Amino acid sequence: PPPTLLHPEKWCRGFNHFISQCLIKDFEKRPSVTHLLEHPFIKQVHGKDMSLQKQLAELIQEQQQLGSVAKTRHERIHTRRPYHVDGADKYSLDDDLVNLEVLDEDTIIHQLQKRYADLQIYTYVGDILIALNPFQNLSIYSPQFSKLYHGVKRSSNPPHIFASADAAYQSMVTFSKDQCIVISGESGAGKTESAHLIVQHLTFLGKANNRALREKILQVNPLVEAFGNACTAINDNSSRFGKYLEMMFTPTGAVMGAKISEYLLEKSRVIKQAVGEKNFHIFYYIYAGLYNQKKLSEYRLPDKKPPRYIDNETGKVMHDIITKDSYGRQFEAIQHCFRIIGFTDEEVYSVYRILTGILNTGNIEFAAISSQHQTDKSEVPNPEALDNAAALLSIGSEELQEALTSHCVVTRGETIIRTNTVDKAADVRDAMSKALYGRLFSWIVNRINTLLHNTENGMNIGILDIFGFENFARNSFEQLCINIANEQIQFYFNQHIFALEQMEYQSEGIDATAVEYEDNRPLLDMFLQKPMGLLSLLDEESRFPQATDLTLVDKFEGNLRCKYFWRPKGVELSFGIQHYAGKVLYDASAFLEKNRDTLPADIVVVLRTSENKLLQQLFSSPLTKTGIFCTTLLTLQHYSLMDLLSKMVVGQPHFVRCIKPNDDREALMFSHERVLLQLRYTGILETVKIRQKGYSHRILFDEFVKRYYYLAFKAHETPLGSRENCLAILEKSKLDNWILGKTKVFLKYYHIEQLNLFLREVI
Ligand code: ADP
Ligand code: MG
Repeated sequence: PPPTLLHPEKWCRGFNHFISQCLIKDFEKRPSVTHLLEHPFIKQVHGKDMSLQKQLAELIQEQQQLGSVAKTRHERIHTRRPYHVDGADKYSLDDDLVNLEVLDEDTIIHQLQKRYADLQIYTYVGDILIALNPFQNLSIYSPQFSKLYHGVKRSSNPPHIFASADAAYQSMVTFSKDQCIVISGESGAGKTESAHLIVQHLTFLGKANNRALREKILQVNPLVEAFGNACTAINDNSSRFGKYLEMMFTPTGAVMGAKISEYLLEKSRVIKQAVGEKNFHIFYYIYAGLYNQKKLSEYRLPDKKPPRYIDNETGKVMHDIITKDSYGRQFEAIQHCFRIIGFTDEEVYSVYRILTGILNTGNIEFAAISSQHQTDKSEVPNPEALDNAAALLSIGSEELQEALTSHCVVTRGETIIRTNTVDKAADVRDAMSKALYGRLFSWIVNRINTLLHNTENGMNIGILDIFGFENFARNSFEQLCINIANEQIQFYFNQHIFALEQMEYQSEGIDATAVEYEDNRPLLDMFLQKPMGLLSLLDEESRFPQATDLTLVDKFEGNLRCKYFWRPKGVELSFGIQHYAGKVLYDASAFLEKNRDTLPADIVVVLRTSENKLLQQLFSSPLTKTGIFCTTLLTLQHYSLMDLLSKMVVGQPHFVRCIKPNDDREALMFSHERVLLQLRYTGILETVKIRQKGYSHRILFDEFVKRYYYLAFKAHETPLGSRENCLAILEKSKLDNWILGKTKVFLKYYHIEQLNLFLREVI
């Protein structure tokens, strides 16, 4: 059972406060039961209550047990306050940035740096958790820690990702309300790790009697990540898609299922990777796995030189596969995942055929047929690659060649066949590979959902792990998509942190002008409005065959007349946007092409003839989540994120902001500049301010009187939880800047500390 000894219901008024202060002060002394019972305050209030003695003894024993948990350095740090004291007012002050008296960027960074040096990677800003990437394994995620963060108040333990998971779980169970945990941060900041830890802790909390189900849920992330993650310059295991994982629970809080939604998979990685980067993990896993099992020839893959799509630095991949066996082991792990989750052997086999089919497709080459009249015709000089790809995809080799090297055009009711140039044919080949992979990925996700879905009524906790705001030297279409998504998430964040707070002031009859914040609504409108928002304009332009990237930027300039958009002089294809997190200059080259993301009908027709049932299914209908027929990539993304946000708005949110302390993935290195930038992007400084400017503690009258009555009343009195009594206490304590609403006392972050000080004096 959780250590819940200091439950307010169990103890007499005021006792919590006394005991917690006493325990904190005398931590080192390890107070004994008799010592506590001798205290004048206890004597006065409790007289000779024998049950009190028993409870105290239990309390002390428990604390000592917890104290012995501390073994290693980090463990000691994370349990250095093992006392489970009650009340939202017993934080160690530096656990929460809101407690800082001087509030500027320097102080905040200094504070984070100090904690980081101590391996305290977690810090609160009010109800938001900041997580600094430790770049080393910490022993603070063991089952012992899961127990420590089980059903206790947040202030009972140092900040921890488990505490956020626990808070979400507790409020789901208590209020029967869906929850969502929004994890943000730039690439490599630790979002995906945090999401795993949350799933780990939630599976612990929602003890499913059904062990098989728990096993399945734990396999979901590794499987999806094998297909959706890749090694990049920044992160060896970088998620190349946005993920929303919903864990479903019964009304009593037992895990009963899970569901994933994916957003914006970076399909272009299938065909090309930047120097030093790699394709999606699964391609290496399967190549190495088949190599080990001597099955490469069965899948028509060469065993000397890996296919072009996975070997951009010739020779290196093969060397890795032969010398290290990690890829091979990962392949076995993936086979295990498929099995545990419940994919059939036939399905898995089809998946492998499609994956190896893609690899073979990448090897198809094109050469120009030089004849006098036809310069725009191409042929395949290596027909064995074509045959291999066709065989694995279970389609006709000739049909495939035709679809790659020519296309049908329908003009005035007549169908004309046109040939493709070498470049065009290569584009079609790559478009086919991207489409195959993208649809395969969506299918796997949907299949997992069917296998793990539970239709019974219940509640859920959603975990959003999505790419953060990006601003590079060159920003393209992908950055625009990501930044629009972030803009929407920021809006949601603002709604929760600022707008809802304002609403509470209003309903309590408090002057709402007290708090101001930067509303990014106008910017969102600029992106999303119909028909004149940026996205609508982009879609409209994408439908004109004659449009170019330049006409697109002209169109933006002509229609987006607001301060958030500008066009720098001298660079035709660029435009700038003032995002909430800063100015970004975009390069519009290839915007239209990327947005159209078309797959020629000729290819679809051929793929539909496949004898591979799964492949047939992938192309039988456009795969969309919302059932809307999406013509372009951006529209799809737009709808899917809106869909997600509307789900999230229903639930109560929790925020985790991940920060990368340095770019070298070094433990204990803290770069002032890098952290500062991220604090700005994630709006943490503003959040701290708003938490300070606002009234971060809002306590119901009744609760307030219960907690603090002996500041104005005698210990034996039992005053009512009325507005007047609150007023009496507040006046007696000589605080200023508090507000009394209709049902609640509104206090500043620093008031609680002051009230506790007075309390100590009184006691
Ligand atoms: P993101 O999803 O934000 O791109 P990841 O979650 O993949 O980042 O984290 C990048 C790397 O940082 C991980 O592979 C891991 O090595 C390290 N890391 C992140 N969080 C932790 C943590 N809590 N403990 C230990 N290592 C971590
Ligand atoms: Mg990630």
